[in-house]
Amino acid sequence: MNIILLGPPGAGKGTQAQRLQAERGMVQLSTGDMLRAAVAAGTPVGLQAKAVMDAGQLVSDDIIVALIADRLEQPDTKAGVIFDGFPRTTAQADALDAMLASKGLELGHVIELTVDEDALVERITGRFSCAKCGAGYHDRFKQPRQPGVCDACGSTEFKRRPDDNEETVRKRMAEYREKTAPISNYYREKGLLRVIDGMADIDVVYGEIASILNGKS
Ligand code: AMP
Repeated sequence: MNIILLGPPGAGKGTQAQRLQAERGMVQLSTGDMLRAAVAAGTPVGLQAKAVMDAGQLVSDDIIVALIADRLEQPDTKAGVIFDGFPRTTAQADALDAMLASKGLELGHVIELTVDEDALVERITGRFSCAKCGAGYHDRFKQPRQPGVCDACGSTEFKRRPDDNEETVRKRMAEYREKTAPISNYYREKGLLRVIDGMADIDVVYGEIASILNGKS
């Protein structure tokens, strides 16, 4: 099954997608991660995207749709995709519909995580991740069990995203309100939208997503 996780920056999309990938064998497809990889590798897409990302704005639809189209060509996506951070505009949503239709694929659910905006700033500015395996942590909410050592892989290297500072976070939220929030109606009208309280505990949110995927709610 293919699903979209929708919600503002810091809503927990990436955390939930990583767990769905680990426990259900679905494939997390995060356009943010793909862009950060392109920036790190210094590809033409990365060079173009970096300044836009650092400013908290949206990268152009053409670039994003091309990234997704390429990625969907890879056979692992047949296991079922979790779109994380995509689509972010109605043009991207239209393009996704067309891509899926041309491959005979369907969207099972669009799951929106709702969150309180003030809490988001604290969530985002405190987060960091393992530089080796990508496991996510938080200054206040989720420190590694042994300080300075990744629970998942034992690495002692951690990193923070350059766009996770308060000023850029506020800009990213404004972009979300203006350009991304309208797509929840787009999916509501198609009967695909499910809304979950993203302020709940990580395990509770995961349980609700799992129930939706298992057809229990
Ligand atoms: P994320 O990791 O999803 O928070 O994305 C980080 C940044 O990458 C965003 O602030 C945008 O600049 C860019 N980005 C990621 N996904 C998209 C998308 N679907 N459309 C446009 N820009 C995106």
